[in-house]
This record gives sequence, structure tokens and C-alpha cells, in this order.
Amino acid sequence: MSTLAIDIGGTKFSMAVFEGGRMLERASRATDREGGREWMLQQIAAVARDWGTHYQFQRCGIGFGGPVEFERQRIALSTHVGGWSDFDLPRHLERTLGLAPVMDNDANVGALGEALYGAGRGYRPLFYMTLSTGIGGGIIPSGEIIYRGADSYAGELGHIVIRPDGPECLCGWHGCFERMCGGLWLERDYGRPAEELLRDPEFVKRYVVDLAMGLKSAIMLLNPARIVIGGGISKAGDALFVPLRAELRTQITTWSRARIEVVPAALGDDSVLYGAMALAEKPVTGYSFPDFRSPKSGNEYPVTGFYPVLDTELLARRGLSPADAAEAILEAGARILQFRHKGFFSRDAFEDAQRVAGLCRAAGALLVINDRVDIAMLLGAAVHLGQDDLAPADARKMTNAIIGFSTHNEQHLRAGDGEPVDYLAIGPIFPTASKQHPDPTLGIQQLRSLRTLTRKPLVAIGGITRAIAGDVLQAGADSIAVIGDLYPDACTKASLRARAEEWMAIFSSRKSPAP
Ligand SMILES: [Zn+2]
Repeated sequence: MSTLAIDIGGTKFSMAVFEGGRMLERASRATDREGGREWMLQQIAAVARDWGTHYQFQRCGIGFGGPVEFERQRIALSTHVGGWSDFDLPRHLERTLGLAPVMDNDANVGALGEALYGAGRGYRPLFYMTLSTGIGGGIIPSGEIIYRGADSYAGELGHIVIRPDGPECLCGWHGCFERMCGGLWLERDYGRPAEELLRDPEFVKRYVVDLAMGLKSAIMLLNPARIVIGGGISKAGDALFVPLRAELRTQITTWSRARIEVVPAALGDDSVLYGAMALAEKPVTGYSFPDFRSPKSGNEYPVTGFYPVLDTELLARRGLSPADAAEAILEAGARILQFRHKGFFSRDAFEDAQRVAGLCRAAGALLVINDRVDIAMLLGAAVHLGQDDLAPADARKMTNAIIGFSTHNEQHLRAGDGEPVDYLAIGPIFPTASKQHPDPTLGIQQLRSLRTLTRKPLVAIGGITRAIAGDVLQAGADSIAVIGDLYPDACTKASLRARAEEWMAIFSSRKSPAP
């Protein structure tokens, strides 16, 4: 079980093989600006094929030196090598190497690498900055989470303006942080490479003033527990970091007791490689899969493709309380949870739902109440409606919350697409034991063609097991609702959590295609 890590930077690309968190192979080549994209892709494929004779690659992570739209898994643009804009690098590597890579920009990936294996271990929130040819930033608010913002453009510290009267930047603005402090410009402005300039104490004295101005924004905005600086320039060591810390102390507003904890990257040139390995291996929780948004309230919920359903009747048979089950599933990383109670909604049932609502709130997960708009409103939850429940348009008159709607065939789905709902469920895809008079099953082929009928997020439901989940995602489902295959026969909190983790892992290793 090996992981292939790829770091595509401004002046070079590097690759590595990891097993169990250890780097076993490493290769690095200078970027051939003339050869451009095709040249680099050929080099990467050659190295990977060579290693492939000794290692069995299961996963692949990529850190790319330019903005990446994470949800689309596309490179937004590259300023250093031509031909990358809107390029589908993961799909290309999937075709040539038979791997399904996960890609992010190198600052985010470097941040993850330092956060888990380098100077950022134990420091959250962590801010990581690459200081090399250009300047990029990555934010790790907690654990293994990369904060990407609404459109994958969070952390782009390089283009905040620190000198409004300064020289023009590549972005068209003046005096950007990157324009004042990036290695590319230092060399052009001063006629000497950055490495040489940083050995000159007089230069460093002036340089740290600008550098601190940029970092001050990160400190004022994020109050990070630590700032880790990677990239070529950070190798200057104490000659840079000692005056930098002193300058930051003078610039940070006196009433702010925000700590000034700025250190060089511990992984040197390998921060991005370690991060790419982690990106490929760690479950992706939140901030990554299509979000359910409520157009009315503006609320947004980052959800994974895993849509677990707490069925109270089934749980009663397995002898587990809804609250214990919710806790186990949320601990596994689920970010959406449906509470399904088909019988009379007694006071006890409501209290169960209330407990689950509290757990979801604490975990930042979206609670969805099945069938009952009134109960959902009382709990501040989303509601999922069936064909025989209150009509979506009537429910919408009552609540601004997220509304989901069950559909069972083409006619339902076409009608549902025009309803004021935020997502549609489609199924049963496969036979299921949980309904007394089930609708006819649809199967994968029909799911694929039905997918094209709506642009709303589509949740596939009905008899989907771990074994077939990959095919369901491939057919275009954004998310999979799981009931039967979620609950092991011997259902305890621990066994349920382990099962939910298995489900989460399915979504971390592949992205569902965009509608
Ligand atoms: Zn700029």
C-alpha cells in the first residue's frame, strides 16, 4: 500500500513514495520552462512508471504551484509554466497511471504537511506561508482540516497590498506582499538572487519590515498558535527569523497579546510532499464535497458524500439509542445526519431528536428531520420530505431551512427539479428491506441517465452497500444515503463508529463527479 506524492512548483517538481508515513523514494527535477506542461507530464509519468515496478500505488496526492479549485479538482491558472489553466491534471494522471489523485494548491498542501509531520505539529490554528518564487498561505484551523473558504481561494496572502504606492504586481495591482517580498521580484529588483541578498544584514533589515507587514495581516486576522514559513527563502534561518520576530513585535498593535511564534518549516523542501501524501491518505471531512446551501437563509453546510440515516425503528431492534448512534457516526466524521422516525412522534421521540440535534450542533453537522416540518423547525434542523408529506412549496412557506425531497422515478425527479428544495433523493437504487411497499428499483444505469435531469445535489438511496458505493458515485450521485449497511449486526457504539469510518474512507479516496 504505497502513496505517490507529487509537488509541482515554480522552478522544479518533486515526487516521492510513502508507506506508513515514511518516505521511501524521492526524485526532483528542474522545471523545463521551454518544454512546458507536456514535458513535465512525461517526466512525471516516467518516474511513476519506474517506481511502479517496485511499489503498488494505492493513492496519489498532488500539490500544485498555483491556484486550484478544489471542488472541481481543476488548476485555475499557473503563472510560472504555460498550458496549465483549467487543466484536469487528476483525470490526466488517472488515465496515464491508473490512479485517482487528489490535488490542492501547494500552500494548502505544504500547510497540511507541516501541520501533521513538521513544525506545525500540536499547533492549531496553524498558518503556513511559502516564501519562495511567490508567496502563498495555508490555514489549518484544527486537526487535519484545510480551510479553503467558499471558492478555494482562502489564504492567498501574496496579493494583499502592503505598499499601495509600490511597483506593479503580476496581478495588475501595486505593492502586493508577493511583489515586495517574493523571490522572483527580489532578483529582478536587486539584480542578485534572494539567497545572496539574505546574507546581507543591511538588506535583511529593510526586507523584514515588508515581510512583517504581510505577516501582521495573518496574525491580526487569524491569531494563529504558530506561523510556519517554508520555501527557499525560509532557509536563511536565524539571519532572517530573529530580525523578523523583532520587527513583528514592533508592528503588532500593543493592546494585542497575540503570540508571535514564527518558525521555519521543519520538513525543508519536503513539506509539500508530506502534505500531498496526507491529502491522499486522510479522510476528507467537510469543506470539500458539494455543499447543500439554503438559498433563502444563506446557510451553508459542508457535507461529505456520506449521508447516514438514523432510523429509530432499526436502532431499537439493534438496541442502540439514537444519541449513542449519532455520537458514533459524527465521531467518524459525518457532517450530515438524518433522523428518521416513522411512527407516532411521541414526546420520547422528540427528546431523542433533541439530543441528536445537540450533538450535530456541537459537531458542526447538519441535522435533517424526516417528514416533519414542525419538528424540524423546533430543532432548527433541515427537513426531508417524502412524496406523501406536506408539498415542498407549502413547507417552503413555513421554513427557510434546507429542504430535501424524495423521488422514486423519472416523473418524480423532473417534478422535483422544479420544486423549491435544496437537494433531491432518488431511489431505491437497489432492493431494500426497510420499506413495506417499495417502489421499483432503479439500478445504476437508470441512475446515470436520471442524473442528467437535475443540477440539484442528488442523494442516491436504497440498498447501497460499501461494495457498490463507488459505482453509485461514478454514476453521478453527489451523496449516498446509508441505512442498512451502516449498522453492523452486533451493533455497539464502537462497531458502528468503525463501520461509519469505512464509509467515510470510500468518499475520501474518490470525488463524485460534478453534476
Ligand atoms: Zn498581486
